[in-house]
Amino acid sequence: MYNPNSFKAEEFIDHEEILETLAYAEANKHNAALIDGILKKARQRKGLTHREAAVLLDCDLEDRNQEIFALANQIKQDFYGNRIVMFAPLYLSNYCVNGCVYCPYHAKNKHITRKKLTQEDIVREVTALQDLGHKRLAIEAGEDPVNNPIEYILECINTIYSIKHKNGAIRRVNVNIAATTVENYRKLKDAGIGTYILFQETYHKESYEKLHPTGPKHHYAYHTEAMDRAMEGGIDDVGLGVLFGLELYRYEFAGLLMHAEHLEAAHGVGPHTISVPRIRSADDIDPSVFDNGISDETFAKIVACIRVSVPYTGMIISTRESKACRERVLGLGVSQISGGSKTSVGGYCEPEQEEENSAQFDVNDTRTLDEVVHWLMDLGYIPSFCTACYREGRTGDRFMSFCKSGQILNFCHPNALMTLKEYLEDYASSGTKTIGETLISAEIQKVPNDKIKEVAICNLTDIMQGKRDFRF
Ligand code: SF4
Repeated sequence: MYNPNSFKAEEFIDHEEILETLAYAEANKHNAALIDGILKKARQRKGLTHREAAVLLDCDLEDRNQEIFALANQIKQDFYGNRIVMFAPLYLSNYCVNGCVYCPYHAKNKHITRKKLTQEDIVREVTALQDLGHKRLAIEAGEDPVNNPIEYILECINTIYSIKHKNGAIRRVNVNIAATTVENYRKLKDAGIGTYILFQETYHKESYEKLHPTGPKHHYAYHTEAMDRAMEGGIDDVGLGVLFGLELYRYEFAGLLMHAEHLEAAHGVGPHTISVPRIRSADDIDPSVFDNGISDETFAKIVACIRVSVPYTGMIISTRESKACRERVLGLGVSQISGGSKTSVGGYCEPEQEEENSAQFDVNDTRTLDEVVHWLMDLGYIPSFCTACYREGRTGDRFMSFCKSGQILNFCHPNALMTLKEYLEDYASSGTKTIGETLISAEIQKVPNDKIKEVAICNLTDIMQGKRDFRF
């Protein structure tokens, strides 16, 4: 029986409820009166139920679809303004005992180059990332209790936070590792992580078990209930995601929103972020083998419908997607993007030799961070390297109430500009710096609170004189 308050995976992601939701959405996909009512509710920025969201996703009335896209854009503007948060992935190890059929790290892949970073390697990788200008990392590792035990992950986090190179520093480490125990989540919390990210891959239990034939990840319930254990372990911010292309996208979409509803119902706080990866080619992975691939148009619709359904949740897109695709979805709700990413283990220091390949997927957008920052500013966005909320304790429900009250606009905008200024001073090319200075001069005038504006202007001057790390 469907029950969003339950802590049992099969009750908060109830298969029958998803099937009924999809049937309801199909039956109402051109029900203009119902769709108008859902859009009216969405305009109140209080979110939608999974059933309402599924109707919008299926809606085949062209004018209403344009309204959905316009509303997604407006909600993005209202809550995130024109800021885009920047991050980079850091692959620690590609040793893995699981058998995931869509990932080249699966245990049976004997020809992929297996690598695991030592602490010395991490110092080199993080120094290289700092030299690019990154302040926020997402660390990634395969599941392997022997090669990548929790102690290894904790040591890596500690090393990352300890590296201070020139004006560089990693100020927030998000963690994407396999589902684990409450005790281990508590250790991650104590290590000072930002968001704990775990992709569900697919919410369809039968498919999930086929796609994960071997290894601990085979256990659907243990994986699906991981966020509840993470929250029990004290982690406030969790990040959801599915791998689009594995199962029917309508099913995944409903499951994703049911998971968000469950977190809100059971813990009083929804997901901090939702990632929307699509399956990509990699070492021994051919995406065409999976027959549920989605077009760019459907992908854009999914992003827009997530945006209007969970307005306060950040949305992440990686370099799996092309420049053109990223540009499209930035205007529909995506709030965080990676740039200059290397998806191989050790890839920031040493490009891999031709015979080597330790990457989890092929990067589509191969531009440097400087090129991505420049491009964002050309499009009118403010690339933000801000990590202030997490460092000021504005996490979990505190972040959500902060966000819901609209206060975030008074803080995020100047924080984004000050961290962008640091980037321009320390890492940008001259062309990027020129456009960035013009952008900051114009944007700083838009800070609504005069006192905050005045302090921010002083801080910008101090940054030019070598001071760092200002935040509201
Ligand atoms: S998806 Fe994760 S668990 Fe599965 S094989 Fe890849 S690294 Fe291992």
